[in-house]
Amino acid sequence: MQENFSLKPYNTFGVDVNAKYFIEVQTLEELRDAINYSKNHDLPVLFLGGGSNILLTKDFDGLAIKLSLKGIDEKDLNDNEILVTAKAGENWHEFVMYSLEKNYGGLENLSLIPGNVGTSPMQNIGAYGTEIKDIFVSCTVLDLENLALKTFNLEECRFGYRDSIFKQEGKGRYVILEVTFHLTKKDHHIKTEYGAIKTELENLGITDPTIQDVSKAVINIRQSKLPDPKETGNAGSFFKNPTIPLAQFEDLKQKFENIPGYPNGDVVKVPAGWLIEQCGWKGKQIGNTASHKLQALVIVNATGNATGKEIFDFSTEIINSVIEKFGIELEREVNII
Ligand SMILES: Cc1cc2nc3c(=O)[nH]c(=O)nc-3n(C[C@H](O)[C@H](O)[C@H](O)COP(=O)(O)OP(=O)(O)OC[C@H]3O[C@@H](n4cnc5c(N)ncnc54)[C@H](O)[C@@H]3O)c2cc1C
Repeated sequence: MQENFSLKPYNTFGVDVNAKYFIEVQTLEELRDAINYSKNHDLPVLFLGGGSNILLTKDFDGLAIKLSLKGIDEKDLNDNEILVTAKAGENWHEFVMYSLEKNYGGLENLSLIPGNVGTSPMQNIGAYGTEIKDIFVSCTVLDLENLALKTFNLEECRFGYRDSIFKQEGKGRYVILEVTFHLTKKDHHIKTEYGAIKTELENLGITDPTIQDVSKAVINIRQSKLPDPKETGNAGSFFKNPTIPLAQFEDLKQKFENIPGYPNGDVVKVPAGWLIEQCGWKGKQIGNTASHKLQALVIVNATGNATGKEIFDFSTEIINSVIEKFGIELEREVNII
């Protein structure tokens, strides 16, 4: 256990705050010991995966626990289906690459998402037409109330758009220890409809894509659009895409005829990036913080010296200007700590 420990290398915004105590755990026993220590000393705990979906706004006056449980297990179901279980501390993209090397299908559209496997159910990570709920079977968690193990199946996780029980009533109660996915071994379901995947495959001269080709296309697109946190601190999309009533969308359409929207019954999902860009934020910098020049939805630590508070205040200004112009209140996707 370390004292007064800088969390700068443990969050992709690169914000420099200290945790009063810090420990990295590799086994369930170490995790239980750390939690018991925090209970005995009345310390709040902060669980850290890859730190790619958090904004640390101040020093953490408790015990930060970095989850580094490792291991991958496989269970064959038949000649086409397999269950693959990965422990929480496995890096997500490396896990996707592992599955592709073995020619297991299902994760390819989720290539290059930062973070760890254990965090993937928290907000039902998604990209390019796939969310983890599409291949999720179950996850095993440690219940902090009694330190017992519990398993959540797909239904119990109550996955929604960037949402799950772990972000709602289960928040702060469960530590996800491992996640099991249902993957294919040969009859893969290739998904190229979303975003620029088809165009990118054409650019690569591929007409009959494999799961590995889809992954390559997704990686190329992501690398061309998103800042690499190793170079510029960020946490990906800072806000969720808002869902508004159809009637409100139709009213807005009168005033802003180009407003994009994806209707679903009597609600419409509106791209947050478009709203933010229309308010003049794309590429705009205030002090150490900026909205990314290629994607307004991504807030970046432009100088490397931004504090969590500066980034938070910047996000509040964006929220206020979107409310003022469109009457829509953006919700932060990033966990504020
Ligand atoms: C460049 C970039 C691009 C991104 N693109 C996408 C994208 O396309 N789609 C997408 O969905 N997300 C995206 N993200 C967001 C992020 O990668 C995901 O949310 C990822 O799942 C976060 O994982 P992490 O391990 O880094 O989480 P952390 O930031 O470490 O943790 C997030 C939250 O979960 C808690 N937590 C961490 N591990 C556990 C655990 N095992 N059990 C319980 N609680 C836990 C933490 O306390 C914190 O509250 C992007 C981020 C970046 C930087």
